Amino acid sequence: MSDKTYTLGIDIGGTKVIGGVVADDGQILASCRYPTPADDTAETVEVIGKIAAELGAQFAVSAMGIAIAGYVDASRSVLEHAPNLLWEENVALRAMVSELVEMPVTLENDANAAAWGEHRFGVGLGVSDMVLLTIGTGIGSGFVLNGQLYRGGFGKAAELGHTLAVRNGEPCGCGSRGCLERYASGTALGRYAREAAEKDPVAAARLRELTGGDLAALTGAHVQQAAGEGNPAALAAFAEVGAWLGIGLADVVFALDPQLIVVGGGVSESGDLLLTPAIAAYKTVVASRGRSEPMATVELAALGNQAGLVGAADLARRR
Ligand SMILES: [Zn+2]
Repeated sequence: MSDKTYTLGIDIGGTKVIGGVVADDGQILASCRYPTPADDTAETVEVIGKIAAELGAQFAVSAMGIAIAGYVDASRSVLEHAPNLLWEENVALRAMVSELVEMPVTLENDANAAAWGEHRFGVGLGVSDMVLLTIGTGIGSGFVLNGQLYRGGFGKAAELGHTLAVRNGEPCGCGSRGCLERYASGTALGRYAREAAEKDPVAAARLRELTGGDLAALTGAHVQQAAGEGNPAALAAFAEVGAWLGIGLADVVFALDPQLIVVGGGVSESGDLLLTPAIAAYKTVVASRGRSEPMATVELAALGNQAGLVGAADLARRR
């Protein structure tokens, strides 16, 4: 009999719940996905139970790790607030799930889990001090410091997306204004492209076409597609998001001085379209503040949208 052990990773996102059986080397051996039941905690717990039954029938799993976009309490038991899932506050998710699936369950913020996944099995392998930023609809972030996932004094680290970029700036989903994620996310990408399109009728026509006629419906994903085609408004939007992201990267370096900053999330799938302007701005800002090399390298995430699942499964193994 093999001494390999398997854990389940679950990643609860705004649109889908992904489950996977993960080996101790980070390989995903089986996976499945279901739509996230909108705004319904009990149904979401049922979906997790369904995934556990489905995958547990194929592999003997010893524990489950859940990654979720939201604030998790210091004991990693309670989902206090999940602004993008719109559940009720203070859901005792760990207890609800472990009762149903009858195995130990760990709960982790999705970006923290992704940072851990990249540290253990991805681009951060062998790096003791790294920061992950996920650039999607918003910005998620996680710190691995001294080879450990850093959760802060109250379990809430890291939320770089809600650090201030512009005083009294754009309204943010968190209730405040001017947060970095209003300027350096996929949502910002859509806004910048709309602004650039107002001055360029040809670029605007293509963007409108991608949205089915309504420029107001333009998302970061549309802009990613248009930028790949060379659309000037879309490329200008990437330059702007990159410039803001570069400032965020510089702030990370001044706060933590990591060896590596990993950029992941849906917008990072555009690769150099995002990374080239971001690194240029990062180097300029850091140099202007008097910091010289060596400093953190910036690299794209390696595990894609599986980082959270793999990281959560590995955290469950180590609990
Ligand atoms: Zn905010």
